[in-house]
Amino acid sequence: METIRAKGIQDEKVLTAINSLPRHFFMEKGFEEWAYIDKAFPIGSDQTISQPYTVAFQTELLQIKKRDKILEVGTGSGYQASILALLGARVHTIERQEDLYHKTNILLEKLDVGNIRTYFRDGYKGIPEFAPFDKMIITAGAKSVPTTLKNQLKIGGILVIPIGDDNTQKMFRITRVSEKEFKKEEFANFRFVPFLKGTNKK
Ligand code: SAH
Repeated sequence: METIRAKGIQDEKVLTAINSLPRHFFMEKGFEEWAYIDKAFPIGSDQTISQPYTVAFQTELLQIKKRDKILEVGTGSGYQASILALLGARVHTIERQEDLYHKTNILLEKLDVGNIRTYFRDGYKGIPEFAPFDKMIITAGAKSVPTTLKNQLKIGGILVIPIGDDNTQKMFRITRVSEKEFKKEEFANFRFVPFLKGTNKK
């Protein structure tokens, strides 16, 4: 997508993945005609599908390699998870809204774009039984980096997370340098729906 390239995304593999995945599959009826505009849109349960630039930005920071084992927090529409799967990653994605989890699970099975497993859980807890992960991506705005998630990262692994208050967050890339050491890099401002505690059953 040329708009995204113009905004600074350079990784050709990421651009190709975004180009090849029809975004309207992931959008609500009535919004489909807006699918190729670089904006976030509602997907039900008070949640949004991130704008393609944001998806591309987070994906680029993750430096995905084929077969990377990735944890995504905030499945939402399943769009970001599908982009990661298209890049060859093995994706484990968590959603806390039960109705959204069910709806997206059905869609992802139907689309069958790659290796994606979905979970209805609280993302703060990660997925201990599949840890450690090569990469992690948080697609909801957090107040700080949850320690539980940092501990489920491989040494050399990368975690991309927006941190801030409810209105605006700064993107961070955290690299686990050793058992106890983490390197923190800071990027631009974004706006995500909040990273909430617990699950929301129907
Ligand atoms: N990645 C999504 C965009 C997600 S919006 C996409 O590609 O469409 C953020 C999502 O994070 C919302 O669906 C919200 O319900 C979810 N979320 C917020 N807090 C969470 C938590 N603790 N665990 C799991 N999911 C969470």
